[in-house]
Amino acid sequence: MDKLSRELFARACKVIPAGVNSPVRAFRSVGENGPFFVGRGEGAYLYDIDGNRYLDYVCSWGPLILGHNPPGLRQALEEALGRGTSYGAATGQEVELAELLVKTVPSLEMVRLVSSGTEAAMSAVRLARGFTGRSRIIKFEGCYHGHGDSFLVKAGSGGATFGVPDSAGVPAELSGLTLAVPYNDTAALEQAFADWGESVAAVIVEPVAANMGVVPPAPGFLQEVREICSNYGALLIFDEVITGFRLAPGGAQEYFGITPDLTCLGKIIGGGLPVGAFGGRAEIMKQLSPLGPVYQAGTLSGNPLSVAAGLFTLKSLVEDPPYRELERKAQRLEQGFRENIANLGLKASLNRVGSLLTLFFTGGPVTDFASARQSDTAAFGKYFHGMLQRGVFVAPSQFEACFVSTALTDEMIGLTVEANRQSLESCLK
Ligand SMILES: *Cc1c(COP(=O)(O)O)cnc(C)c1O
Repeated sequence: MDKLSRELFARACKVIPAGVNSPVRAFRSVGENGPFFVGRGEGAYLYDIDGNRYLDYVCSWGPLILGHNPPGLRQALEEALGRGTSYGAATGQEVELAELLVKTVPSLEMVRLVSSGTEAAMSAVRLARGFTGRSRIIKFEGCYHGHGDSFLVKAGSGGATFGVPDSAGVPAELSGLTLAVPYNDTAALEQAFADWGESVAAVIVEPVAANMGVVPPAPGFLQEVREICSNYGALLIFDEVITGFRLAPGGAQEYFGITPDLTCLGKIIGGGLPVGAFGGRAEIMKQLSPLGPVYQAGTLSGNPLSVAAGLFTLKSLVEDPPYRELERKAQRLEQGFRENIANLGLKASLNRVGSLLTLFFTGGPVTDFASARQSDTAAFGKYFHGMLQRGVFVAPSQFEACFVSTALTDEMIGLTVEANRQSLESCLK
């Protein structure tokens, strides 16, 4: 890293563990000595404080589907800001956002706003337990649902990268209620239900896994998960924190035509401000306090600034859907990367669903956590470094997605494909 970032990192490390407020930001898993520090973002670009410019494929880890600072967002935020920052009391904009979510996301009849995806997933699981009166949950290995205690069992992302699938500080009594089965493995899911079916409150799944790198659901997988849950009276929770408004306005449930009982949202629906949401059938949602016995609350839930940014972003996506254009651009990227891999005779494989993609440094196919972990993370580290040097910021971990935003032009994609070619070539040396 350059001078100013290095200096700031030294200061940061004295007062913030590893100098960052979320682990992957430290760039540790790609062998860098420290991260760059951001000065600002504009459109498809991120600028660090040393004046370097990067094409941004991290996009705040998903929220920025319209790129940085898209035209109109600032005005929406300024208007909201003119009315204050937080009230802890109901507003019309919250209702408008909830109405938009219920209208757009097929399975939602009611929804509650929270402040993060972690909170959404924690709340959805508590609600599922309260509704069913059962205590176990089933998750899939390599899926990430935020850092709630119940989910830190084979959790992908940071966990996968750092080789600590189970976090210290999580009581075994609690993690023992979470069963993890391999993604895309319906036989394992059937077996788990055969063993524990009567006590399983819910199955939670990323309908497209994007936190062990991108792993698409095998044909029929989500449908079978849906059927198994229904057979055993367990709720199906789709964690659409990444896929919501990413694959389609109605998320993966619209894209694949599967109806979950509960849905978690976050990231895009806050337009870059802190937000989360969970929702589903009215009969279930009415179990929430103060209507029902399941407690859930938040001082900043439905924060006016988050809601303003969310409304702006979702209205843009619904009124002028960019999904075909995103698909076309992501496909170009995929095709370019694939050609580079083939021309260099590299052992790599690529997974893509819509505007989410991951280049794995393994011959593949990558269909679950075990196959994702076959990847050569040292080679990925070299690749990351090569891309960064060529002005392209991809996630600083093998087990993450590249996010394509509408701010990327065809020319930028061409430059990215060329940077990819050169970076892959340097990996071979
Ligand atoms: C990011 C993410 C979360 C957690 O959201 P936070 O806002 O970081 O708490 C949960 N689930 C999935 C699928 C995510 O990608």
